[in-house]
Amino acid sequence: MKKKLFSILLVLAMCLSLTTVAFADVSYGTYTGTAMGRNGEVVVETSFLNGEIVSVTIVSQSETAGVADPALETLPIEIVENQSIGLDAVTGATFTSTAILEAVASCIKQAGGDLEEWSKKIVKEAGEDIELTADVVVIGAGGAGMSAAAVAGASGASVILIDKAAAVGGNTILCGGSYNAADPEVQKNEPISEAQRKELASYLEMDEADFGDFGPTLAILKEQVAEYLDSGADYLFDSIELHMIQSYTGSKRTGLDGTVIVPDFELISSLCHNALDGWHWLQSIGVPTREDLTTAVGALWKRTHQVEVPPTGAKPLTDALRDYVLSQGVEIMLNTKAKEFIVEDGVVTGVLAEKNDGTKVILHSNHGVVLATGGYAGNVQMCVEYNNYWPDLTTSARTDNSSNAQGDGIKMAEAIGANTIGLGFVQMLPTCTALDGQAGKGVGSKIYVNKEGLRYISENSERDVLSKAALAQTDGVFYGVGDAEMIATQGETKINESEAMGYIFIGDTLEEVAEKAGVDAEALIETVKKYNEYVDAQEDPEFGRYAFSNKIETAPFVIAPMSPALHHTMGGVQINTDTQVIDTNGNPIPGLYAAGEVCGGIHAGNRLGGNAVADAIVHGRVAGANALAFER
Ligand code: ADP
Repeated sequence: MKKKLFSILLVLAMCLSLTTVAFADVSYGTYTGTAMGRNGEVVVETSFLNGEIVSVTIVSQSETAGVADPALETLPIEIVENQSIGLDAVTGATFTSTAILEAVASCIKQAGGDLEEWSKKIVKEAGEDIELTADVVVIGAGGAGMSAAAVAGASGASVILIDKAAAVGGNTILCGGSYNAADPEVQKNEPISEAQRKELASYLEMDEADFGDFGPTLAILKEQVAEYLDSGADYLFDSIELHMIQSYTGSKRTGLDGTVIVPDFELISSLCHNALDGWHWLQSIGVPTREDLTTAVGALWKRTHQVEVPPTGAKPLTDALRDYVLSQGVEIMLNTKAKEFIVEDGVVTGVLAEKNDGTKVILHSNHGVVLATGGYAGNVQMCVEYNNYWPDLTTSARTDNSSNAQGDGIKMAEAIGANTIGLGFVQMLPTCTALDGQAGKGVGSKIYVNKEGLRYISENSERDVLSKAALAQTDGVFYGVGDAEMIATQGETKINESEAMGYIFIGDTLEEVAEKAGVDAEALIETVKKYNEYVDAQEDPEFGRYAFSNKIETAPFVIAPMSPALHHTMGGVQINTDTQVIDTNGNPIPGLYAAGEVCGGIHAGNRLGGNAVADAIVHGRVAGANALAFER
């Protein structure tokens, strides 16, 4: 378990000078309290002297790096300063905050204190209004907002970037750091399998007439594929057109009401044409990246570039973005929630926001405003309300999102006439932990089996297809099975952390690991034997898988129990390729730009795995540049 020590030791003199009221009922001494956080136990020590809390120390915790830090750092101080646990949770770190407050409550109880007195609500007072002007105002400091702020800042503009959370990163910090971009130079080093050749050949049979706006793209792809197959090349084929066509087929879906939703051709074209440049830009600003390519879950092709991330999320990505943004002179205002746009003569000229103590923040922009507030998969109620895809979605569905993903920006934009697209389409990520519904905690796997030890789907399928199939298995749980290769690619540290957290099981034999994970061992051994034969034959007669891993054959073996959770909302405000927000009459709203998950239309009914970060970076950069270029 990762251990961090946040210690606040206040000298006695300071304690005595506190103006807040203490309750003399607590006994002198240091007590230990424990409560469950997001990832496990949070252990806290609280010291009492002369009826006051003199220190709160986090002894151990395994909370999500970056997301939980503001709570771990500020709450112990605030408890001592206010001599109370009647404090609000830190925005975006609710689980961790609650755990700290509960653990300190336990200490107060052990010390004989009256919990009711110590829990009296601390009401923060609003400060004086803050009124500022910048060239560009950006709302939301996730991947899209930080990219927009970075680009505008790098052009020498003054930029204010606000976020309602206590730390930057949004949902982007929780992702696996997967980024799709066709990169034929790098893919020349990747072998192509027979099954992938067959998959490519299948495009030759497809009819342009079935592809709407994407018909001409399919025609180009067919020419590329024919030439490639004729050449007898043995490296992995890829092209911008293949990425576009897979983004089309992977996201064209029919809603429960029969509506067919397809992705916006122009936006997909812009995403796929600019993704590689966006990746190189990330590398140029210091984001740590891996050299090898992967296939993100539901990515459909091996074109996923990887940010170097630990199992605890994509903090290295958002840290690097934040550092670059700050180096470009951008002012970041945290704990600042946008409430509404300032609109003058039909032009968006700023934002009205509020600090978490109620202080009013009025921000004016000389040029444009960028909306990058992310999606609403943290708002299960809203997902259920709009749902037009999942037959049995209820408010008991799990989400892997930050609680900040509430759809604020969509509502703000709708209030000034913005059009929305596809709000009924929410993606469930199949590979969330069965333990707590979090994403990105696994270590990769070669096949998926159910509790009975049987495969039930082609692992190459799209995320919605995988999720639907997984939910139909016993307990709605499935098991990713891997071997020593996972340990080699993920590194021992990541594997050990995931095992310690209970996200994976490891065993020297398939039998041992199956028993640990609660999977039928005999059936699993048979399933693995069959799969290994399919790898040899490069053909999966059962489920039609077309991209195979190596065989599962080298100990130690790994099993990760997983279950789908709400993950990404495809619906949102309509934008054009200049990232201008479009109103319900089809016209751009002057001064307002949007990027990232707050936007709808690009991922239609199901986003390809690995397309979200690429979209946030590509269109975030466009939004930053265009908001700065906007003149009234
Ligand atoms: P994306 O990168 O696709 O934009 P993220 O979820 O990574 O998505 O980032 C969205 C950010 O927007 C989060 O950090 C979230 O806290 C922030 N946010 C959401 N609503 C508001 C709001 N009303 N005011 C300010 N920030 C907001």
